[in-house]
Amino acid sequence: MVKAVRIEQTGGPEVLDLIEVELDAPGPGMVQVRNKAIGLNYIDTYHRSGLYPLPLPTGIGLEAAGEVIAVGEGADLNVGDRVAYCTAGFGAYSECINLPAARLVRVADGIDLETAAAVLLKGATVEYLLQRTYPLASGQTCVFHAAAGGVGLLFGQWASALGATVIGTVSTEAKAELARAHGYDHVINYSHENVAERVREITGGLGVPVVYDGVGKDTFETSLDCLSMRGLMVSFGNASGSPEPLDLQVLANKGSLFITRPTLMTYTASTEELRQSAADVFERVLDGRLAVNIQQRYALADVAQAHRDLESRKTTGSSLLIP
Ligand code: NDP
Repeated sequence: MVKAVRIEQTGGPEVLDLIEVELDAPGPGMVQVRNKAIGLNYIDTYHRSGLYPLPLPTGIGLEAAGEVIAVGEGADLNVGDRVAYCTAGFGAYSECINLPAARLVRVADGIDLETAAAVLLKGATVEYLLQRTYPLASGQTCVFHAAAGGVGLLFGQWASALGATVIGTVSTEAKAELARAHGYDHVINYSHENVAERVREITGGLGVPVVYDGVGKDTFETSLDCLSMRGLMVSFGNASGSPEPLDLQVLANKGSLFITRPTLMTYTASTEELRQSAADVFERVLDGRLAVNIQQRYALADVAQAHRDLESRKTTGSSLLIP
């Protein structure tokens, strides 16, 4: 028996139950992983609330790092391997889990398991957003919302290393300071500043060629208003709820804009893409280009509090659940 978080029904953080579950030996192509650190991600709250529906009852959580403790037939990993995962299936909020070996990545030597769990999902997201969704070039300017969040602190560093001018938005002065220390050249506190106006000021009236928006409903229109002609809106999350349906004419009126709604799952669909993305993230951690900020740690039993803190904007950087 192992401890694992299950949800029987969708709802608030109170639906997260830590219970004892049976775990079979791993089947063909699968391995059993003992989780050492579990990554907390905003998407976990969408699964819990039902915004992204899952068949119930279900395990929850996408990301963790740990050690392989049993190997099923034909799986290309060994007992004792240090591994991490972020798109292998649901149920990372657990002591142990069986997962397909093809969706696991080996953690590079020199990276501890807590760091791996804090950086893999968020870092791979930044990798595909900045290099594949809209390949940001040196000298270009971009906008990123929730700059002091988990994805946000990694994004600022990576975009800055590319030679871009990075504009971030935050809700408090403390978050603004943190964002500035992580690569953001300009930080807009949307609690008292008009984001689109400030972006026009910073860009000499032009706007930016790309906005990366993980906040969703509350920022959607503002994001379109930050774009230059033929700019790209990358809507990749819904921390404030899903954006309203869009009348395509709006894109014409605001300057022949483009829009995309990417997911990490589709950008790491093949094992090769997943491992390449992870390798890029780990390489940047190892050579110091990417500092990983674990700002909150919770016992797995305190998972409901972790969700409350994340949804009430109390967290910054990465958060871990420790089984
Ligand atoms: P964060 O640590 O960034 O937390 C969310 C932040 O969003 C808050 O701290 C807050 O920052 C801001 N926010 C703005 N409005 C609200 C609101 N109404 N309620 C709560 N928070 C709000 O989370 P993550 O780093 O885990 O994820 C960031 C976003 O990226 C999420 O939307 C997530 O779903 C998305 N994502 C998408 C992926 C994809 O492939 N599509 C993959 C990974 C993440 P502030 O106080 O400064 O406003």
